[in-house]
Amino acid sequence: MSNIDKTLRPADSSLEISRAALDELSSQVTQLVADYYSQIRSLPVFPETHAGKTSGQLGTLLPTEGESIADLLEDCRRILSGSRHNGHPRFFGYVASPSTAPGAFADLIASTVNVNVTSWRSGPAATEVERTVIGWLAEMIGYGNDNQKAHGLLTSGGSMANFTALLIAHRANCDPQVSQAGLWNSQPMTIYASSEIHMSIPKAADLLGLGRQNVRLVECDGRFRMNVSDLRERIAADLKNGLKPFCVVGSSGTVNTGAVDPLAEIADVAHEFDLWFHVDGAYGALATLDQSKRPLFAGLERADSVSLDPHKWLYVPLDSGCLLFRDEARARAAFSFDEADYIKVHEQNEDEAFAFWNYGPELSRRFRALKIWLTLRYYGVDRIAAAISEDNALAAYLGERVAEAGDFELLAAPELSICCFRYVPPGLLAKPEGLDDAFNSELDELNNQIMLAVQRGGRAYLSSATLGGRFALRACITNFRTTRADIDQTLDIIRDAARELE
Ligand SMILES: *Cc1c(COP(=O)(O)O)cnc(C)c1O
Repeated sequence: MSNIDKTLRPADSSLEISRAALDELSSQVTQLVADYYSQIRSLPVFPETHAGKTSGQLGTLLPTEGESIADLLEDCRRILSGSRHNGHPRFFGYVASPSTAPGAFADLIASTVNVNVTSWRSGPAATEVERTVIGWLAEMIGYGNDNQKAHGLLTSGGSMANFTALLIAHRANCDPQVSQAGLWNSQPMTIYASSEIHMSIPKAADLLGLGRQNVRLVECDGRFRMNVSDLRERIAADLKNGLKPFCVVGSSGTVNTGAVDPLAEIADVAHEFDLWFHVDGAYGALATLDQSKRPLFAGLERADSVSLDPHKWLYVPLDSGCLLFRDEARARAAFSFDEADYIKVHEQNEDEAFAFWNYGPELSRRFRALKIWLTLRYYGVDRIAAAISEDNALAAYLGERVAEAGDFELLAAPELSICCFRYVPPGLLAKPEGLDDAFNSELDELNNQIMLAVQRGGRAYLSSATLGGRFALRACITNFRTTRADIDQTLDIIRDAARELE
């Protein structure tokens, strides 16, 4: 008789690791995380690097044998030091906020349980947490309460939320045969958005087969908000030409300047022409938590759907976007697909039959809700609201510093937490005849060079925007580590870069 325990696989075919190895791995990994969070202020914002440098140091050979935890952790430290640190207090590029430690650890827990949140049957607790989080997000931005219920789902980000919204809007307004037969021979359908709209909207139109050019780019006013009379004219012209307008997208925080479109007026137009009203709030919707900004968002509650990104202004780790909508039946009509056996749900109870695949394109889905749920519970909404308000106040402070300086020009006054400006060599701003075109082009080039020099220098990080044809340095402050001193220092860093270039 053999004395081999048949309940154990042979050691070399099992991926189980011993309790001692597990303890070593977890203590070393949490140490690395804690070190990173405590050192982030003193790291260069952008590493001194060039393409291929990190992979060169780390080796690219396929490992056929396992390596030691110590070696792996050392390489992970190299990866951290070869990264751009969005959490650094002087990182102002794009809309890229830092994550918090509670959110990061929540992701570890989510990956540990590795639940696939396709439906209640596949992940009962996770599905319930996600539905709770959807309700919280809707309540936080003033889109849902007991009388006006909101539904929705978490997505990889704002682009996927926008795509999902446009698909629902499209299917709510077109021939029901389109899902089966495609768009072949169907009437051209048009979408309206301001010329400041995020590229994910034309991209979604393209993915839907509607064509990017059928997103009509409506003019903006002096504050980069949609001009609603131009919107009306565009819709009327398309109707006259036999096209089918079906959707208008408002921005609640554009990515260039943070402008919030006049949502209530757009809601009126949507109502008048029977269009789906979607709000892209990927950057700005959570700024509703700043009471001083709340009036800008009036009308948001009238949208048929709203996108927002907890991985932006809720300081939650990537990836976590969200789509909210009012009419659950319309969303279900766009996505439900009950022919395949592997998605048949046999539950009788409505909550137990709930499946996220009926509301969006994804089947396998990470447990994204946990990091939002834990972040909100760890800090409480009031503390997060205070962080968002401070980001807005810092952008206003930057705007003031720029406006009062003799060597900077404000190109767009901050609406939320974005400030766009440019460097102008001292003395030139006072020129009575103003700046001519040739000089403006020189300034575009100078500011572009300044941006690159600042990015490479590793002390601060700015991106750019094109506003009225002019190159603007753009600072987006969605960072709870940034202080007024960081703002002052950034202006000096820009001046240093300008001096070296001149
Ligand atoms: C970031 C952003 C998006 C895209 O969101 P992702 O999460 O990057 O996919 C869409 N619209 C606006 C206004 C944004 O700021």
